Amino acid sequence: MTSVDPRRLIPRTDHLLGLPAVRAAQERLGQDLVRAIVSDVQDLARRGELGPDEVEGVLTARLASRSPTLLRPVLNATGVVIHTNLGRAPLSRAAVDAIVTASGYVDVELDLATGIRSKRGTAAKGALLRACPAAEDALVVNNGAAALVLATTVFAAGREVVISRGELIEIGAGFRLPDLMASTGARLREVGTTNRTHLADYLDAIGPETGCVLKVHPSNFRVEGFTSGVSLEELRAAIQDVPLVADLGSGLLVPDPVLPDEPDATSALAAGADLVIASGDKLLGGPQAGLLLGRAELVSRLARHPLARAVRVDKLTLAAIEATLSGGPVPVMQSLHADAAVLRTRAERLAAAVGAPVVAHDGRVGGGGAPGVPLHGWAVRLPADLAEPLRRGDPAVLPRVHDGACLIDLRCVPPEEDDRLTAAIQRVITGDRTVGH
Ligand SMILES: *Cc1c(COP(=O)(O)O)cnc(C)c1O
Repeated sequence: MTSVDPRRLIPRTDHLLGLPAVRAAQERLGQDLVRAIVSDVQDLARRGELGPDEVEGVLTARLASRSPTLLRPVLNATGVVIHTNLGRAPLSRAAVDAIVTASGYVDVELDLATGIRSKRGTAAKGALLRACPAAEDALVVNNGAAALVLATTVFAAGREVVISRGELIEIGAGFRLPDLMASTGARLREVGTTNRTHLADYLDAIGPETGCVLKVHPSNFRVEGFTSGVSLEELRAAIQDVPLVADLGSGLLVPDPVLPDEPDATSALAAGADLVIASGDKLLGGPQAGLLLGRAELVSRLARHPLARAVRVDKLTLAAIEATLSGGPVPVMQSLHADAAVLRTRAERLAAAVGAPVVAHDGRVGGGGAPGVPLHGWAVRLPADLAEPLRRGDPAVLPRVHDGACLIDLRCVPPEEDDRLTAAIQRVITGDRTVGH
């Protein structure tokens, strides 16, 4: 009896790569990825999970649904404005356009009028100084952590950083600021206690070994009860010859009435800080970046240090920072300031369309910012078991799962996406898993 091993009928690689649909996919996805997908589908057939005659169809379907990146856009229905797992700040239209513009050849380090080399990042710096005139100069680096490393290295490597014990914080997933600073060769001179630090504690510690005094905004927790700290004003009044550095974390450049306790660069500089450090992708609503703003002499010391080159940002970040500050509405600010009545109307419309109730729901700043500050709003309350199909759907929707419910908060969903979100929820309710756009 002769029987053909069905595996011998599996289409060969050369044949599959020559199919018109596969060749077209190579224009879009590149050879390496297409070959990997071809070989994955052949493997399925070798394992008998696919018939030889199904290989072409499955392969074309897989190629058609694959993009060059596995990153997928997500509708953030959690009510958390700066969601670390969703990449922190969504960029403004202006910032996205600026990134596209900057993605080709651009005059990032060239003066087109003279044809000679120019300073990198002057446009982004200009935008920062317009937004925060209290700063004499500014420098943009890779992220907040890099800004802190650079400042600690330049001011205090081999010397001491004087810092309150109440400000030795861990930011997220094991990222501890004290360890980061110690990695630069600076020694931490801890003063005060967890809940109380006094001016005398700082003054006792400051001496010939002091490189800088650092104030860190404990952005992700609050100490309540018997507490006291020393303000920048008090420190400035008592300390003259030592750089006073404030790590603000959040990136507010000016005060925001919605977040009265959140520090901002303008106020910190006015209070006497020589230098402030902030992230670009938290409340500023821009790309990942670290901002250093303050006295010109200090900023230029930072910029001249060899480490500045190692933490320098690319042209895309420079373009996005500039456009975040100089362009149209910034999504983080729109979500933060969303009108509760408007959110309610949108939630009611969604609720009616999917047959679910609206409940009061507080959003959050997130990203380790403004803990305990509720952003009053509304959510549509769905059964908890819808969360998973919503996440896996297209568009992917991330709800908040809380108290046995799947909550859809529209604060961070752009209003123009409401219809797509409604359709996505309707599909998971009816159990229809087909893709919709
Ligand atoms: C977030 C944060 C940082 C780290 O900034 P990244 O941009 O995430 O590197 C440093 N300090 C404080 C106080 C922060 O809140």
